[in-house]
Amino acid sequence: MSKEAAIGIDLGTTNSCVAVMQYGKVEIIANAQGNRLTPSCVAFTGKERLIGDPAASQVAVNPANTIFDAKRLIGRKFNDDTVQADIKLWPFKVVSDNGNPRIQVEFLNQTMQFKPEEISAMVLKKMKDTAEAYLGYKVKDAVVTVPAYFNDSQRQATKDAGQIAGLNVIRIINEPTAAAIAYGMDRKAQGEKTVLIFDLGGGTFDVSVLVIDNGNFQVKSIAGDTHLGGEDFDNRLLVHFIQEFMRKHKADISGNKRALRRLRTACERAKVTLSSAPQANIEIDGLTEGIDFYSTITQAKFEDLCGDLFEMIISHVKKAVDDCKLEMDEIVLVGGSSRIPKLQSLLVEMFHKELNKSIDPEEAVAYGAAVQAAVLNGDKSFGECILQDVVPLSLGVEPAGGVLEILVARNTPIPVRTNKIFSTNADDQESVGICVYEGERPLAKDNHLLGKFDLVGIPPAPRGVPKIEVKFDVDVDGILSVSAIDFGSGNHERITIKPDKGGLTAEEVERMIEDARRFESEDHKKRECVVARNDLESYVLNLRNALEKFKCKLSESDIEYGRTRLASALKWVEENKAAEAEEYRGRKNELKAEVKKIQEKIGHKEGEPLSPHKSNVLA
Ligand code: AMP
Repeated sequence: MSKEAAIGIDLGTTNSCVAVMQYGKVEIIANAQGNRLTPSCVAFTGKERLIGDPAASQVAVNPANTIFDAKRLIGRKFNDDTVQADIKLWPFKVVSDNGNPRIQVEFLNQTMQFKPEEISAMVLKKMKDTAEAYLGYKVKDAVVTVPAYFNDSQRQATKDAGQIAGLNVIRIINEPTAAAIAYGMDRKAQGEKTVLIFDLGGGTFDVSVLVIDNGNFQVKSIAGDTHLGGEDFDNRLLVHFIQEFMRKHKADISGNKRALRRLRTACERAKVTLSSAPQANIEIDGLTEGIDFYSTITQAKFEDLCGDLFEMIISHVKKAVDDCKLEMDEIVLVGGSSRIPKLQSLLVEMFHKELNKSIDPEEAVAYGAAVQAAVLNGDKSFGECILQDVVPLSLGVEPAGGVLEILVARNTPIPVRTNKIFSTNADDQESVGICVYEGERPLAKDNHLLGKFDLVGIPPAPRGVPKIEVKFDVDVDGILSVSAIDFGSGNHERITIKPDKGGLTAEEVERMIEDARRFESEDHKKRECVVARNDLESYVLNLRNALEKFKCKLSESDIEYGRTRLASALKWVEENKAAEAEEYRGRKNELKAEVKKIQEKIGHKEGEPLSPHKSNVLA
């Protein structure tokens, strides 16, 4: 294969995963820590920025500046009920900037604000780096997955995140569709099958019904909630234990970020345990003010705490099935939270059939994205792979009267183009306002406003005479553009809608790309310092060993000088952990020059092991 590979990235709420298809085979790529899943977590400290595993592992000591769940904020408004509910339980700060959420952290001793797409971009960049380290060359093209139920602004924001990360997002595909590819690729010869993909991850829930036939993936219906998943179950446990702690110890930990973070981690662990055991323990020493917290939770209590959420999940499954009116051949489980036994038993009860657990629930989405990336990149080794996805929510405009006029109904296959003719509501009306909504509620105002614009310059005419054509165009990524033309007068005017204020302008994306590059170069500088410091330290330690080993060749005064000199060098390294790389290198060079002088004095030959050149300390 001469062409550079295009990668597939599953940008998850909790974890992300990257895969590539090469020579007809899909490889899930492990990160620098050897893990196939990377926490979608970014941490900021006084000294550096950490992404993925290193960020997740320091969360207990730096909860206010360790960001997770950015996907739950992406493309949303600050006042969204879900955002407000999450903020109460997050240990990091989210503020409003003109109604849009901004994540506020202390970084390099400054207060900084980031948009959710910037945090997602950092995770995407990490996945890009992981792929590049594996492939050995720069990667540009990627397919990024989103929940099928992501709306227009959430898709647009995810695409922007890709761009900020330096990726060319060749396609946005829906997570359950990607999982269906992973499922369907192995079963090409089995004829037509109707498959329900039940995809419940950390923060989102999607259910999709697809008809799969020999590499053809046709989505028939989708349902779900972009704000429902494993983290909601963690939150239920968290609230339960906060109350229990209050009852037992008369102490309220709800304002204590560090305690909350530790308890949340323990809750998630307990939840996972409950998928394979009837009971789980919580054991946290010194949760607050020296009080230890020990408790237990049973599977039955967990199911009770999450009962309404489980019901909500099942109602979405029913909606997807009702919408497509098809018999299911297979129920395929995807996403970490699909392992919860109660949910599995509810699904068995509903469909009266065994559930299909044949694909890896956490890697299937990245797998499918990698196949799609390769296909779009011209790879024919898997034969045909044709995707036909659908619009998750109905799209329409608000004419006079306030009732939503639907131009694209939900579950319409994409790409799709439609148009409708409207007119004026008053005599000599010079302009019309066009408000674009998505949602299923009959009154426009009850739906989600995607954007609005005015079409001006309509020549004077009696009401109802001008003909204004509104066109909707949903592309293969599920992203909508809207235009309006007044063609009754021959005076054509055309405006394309942009996502409402929440979306990023081209200039903003450009600035964020610049910021991302700056952070990248600061990260690089930081790494360079650590490497230089380790190099100096290991050089001094090796010299100290060499000095003791070869002291018989040296005078008493040289030995004494050497010992003092090396001890003070080590002390300096210990006391100067944040010096510039250049300074570490300079100090190493000074030492090298002194070693050379001593070698010359005692007639030591170059190459003999008195002067260690190699660092054996890993950065
Ligand atoms: P994903 O986004 O697919 O990686 O799913 C992550 C979510 O799955 C997190 O909320 C995990 O806590 C949850 N999860 C992973 N394994 C299990 C399990 N065995 N039982 C319940 N939840 C799980």
